[in-house]
Amino acid sequence: NIGKISLEQIDNLSLKSFPLCMRNLHKALRENHHLRHGGRMQYGLFLKGIGLTLEQALQFWRAEFVKGKVDADKFDKTYAYSIRHSFGKEGKRTDYTPFSCMKIILSNAPSQGDHHGCPFRHSDPELLKQKLQSYKIPGNGINQILDLVKGMHYQLACQKYFELTHGVDDCNFSLNHPNQYFAESQSLLN
Ligand code: SF4
Repeated sequence: NIGKISLEQIDNLSLKSFPLCMRNLHKALRENHHLRHGGRMQYGLFLKGIGLTLEQALQFWRAEFVKGKVDADKFDKTYAYSIRHSFGKEGKRTDYTPFSCMKIILSNAPSQGDHHGCPFRHSDPELLKQKLQSYKIPGNGINQILDLVKGMHYQLACQKYFELTHGVDDCNFSLNHPNQYFAESQSLLN
């Protein structure tokens, strides 16, 4: 599916078809014109998984970073390498695969100033609640999500978020990967 997405589509896709972890990362990137390493890895590999080419990825990250504190020269020196690296074009030429939910949930927990991780696992429940309210999730749906979070059923909470944002009673899949979430959303919407 490489090359099927245009950069102009990403804002809209982030609202409709990204799981909450990636929606958060996209929003933070647009607002701060920057993401720290953990966020760049988690989000960059997800974008690769939905079909961005290496050229698109370089264009996407460069355009956003130069709106912040990084000029094009610094971007090319500091950040472009690791993007090419994640596409297997540098170093050991490993073609990195996007992170699964389990990897995101269990490793590299975010600290202050980070935006990566799984919001169902790593967000303070009160902040998660406020975020879901701001995304117009109905109150009883939010309560169901928070109950699942309390029971440590993070992927089921994410499935509930999928159902509520796609208007379906049963999502009919067992979530284990953010890119699976995206694919299921796109097949429902298109
Ligand atoms: Fe992302 Fe998976 Fe967490 Fe959903 S359950 S927010 S897809 S890491």
